[in-house]
Amino acid sequence: MPPEQLTKIFTQVYLGIMGGGFVLLLLLETLFPLDPRVTESERTRRVLRNFGLWTVGLVVADAIVGDWLLDIPARLFTPTRGLLHAIALPLPILIVVGVLVVDFGEYVFHRLSHSVRWLWLIHAVHHADDRLDVATALRFHPGETTINVVWKAVFLWLLGLPLWLIAARGPLMVSASFLQHANLRVPEWLDRRLRWVLITPLLHRMHHSPLAAENNTSFGEIFSFWDRLFGTLHAPPQPSVGYGLPNLHGDRWHSFVGMMLTPLRARHLRTL
Ligand SMILES: [Zn+2]
Repeated sequence: MPPEQLTKIFTQVYLGIMGGGFVLLLLLETLFPLDPRVTESERTRRVLRNFGLWTVGLVVADAIVGDWLLDIPARLFTPTRGLLHAIALPLPILIVVGVLVVDFGEYVFHRLSHSVRWLWLIHAVHHADDRLDVATALRFHPGETTINVVWKAVFLWLLGLPLWLIAARGPLMVSASFLQHANLRVPEWLDRRLRWVLITPLLHRMHHSPLAAENNTSFGEIFSFWDRLFGTLHAPPQPSVGYGLPNLHGDRWHSFVGMMLTPLRARHLRTL
């Protein structure tokens, strides 16, 4: 099957999970909430604000690499140089290698987002959320989404891998992100087993702790290999003190405009 056609399928699955998976998790969160304090009106507000933020990010990223809704242009399909270009990998192996390579790229980007001040100011929009639910998975500043897409495109280009591999990883990435943030109780025995391979909900909840010692851990997006390899995995029981960032409380940081302006408004704060 040609990569163009594969990309269309991956993108459709991605958008299907974005819609159907999101609604299913909203329903499960209503029936089996881990934290029952989130009211319906608060949840509706969170979904609308975060969905707005995600949509702006998608449109900007799409303007950079996509023709329309990440329908990646043909010129970006076939790299002509780079480390892995010379090895003509069979398609299934190329997809597996590509998913792993992009996941490693995400791990590096996420670590930089916590250690480079200006990237942290942008990534803080995601971490400022003081509740965790499936809507948190949409809470990324459009600036972060855009820089992240460019980062992945350069990463793949340097390695001589086609850009459509980002789309190939999309369905896995969005499923992992929704499950990691969902306000659902996950049995600890199951989480313990899954974390050998995956970044699980309990690992990711620790990453949303307000304490720097706890949120500077478990940077992986889908797989936990990279955190194991570089010694950044922190196996929890639970974060010590909830979620969010100590100096970014209140509607000023959580409204749509507040989230858009967070990198500017927070730049004067010594710590977030
Ligand atoms: Zn983070």
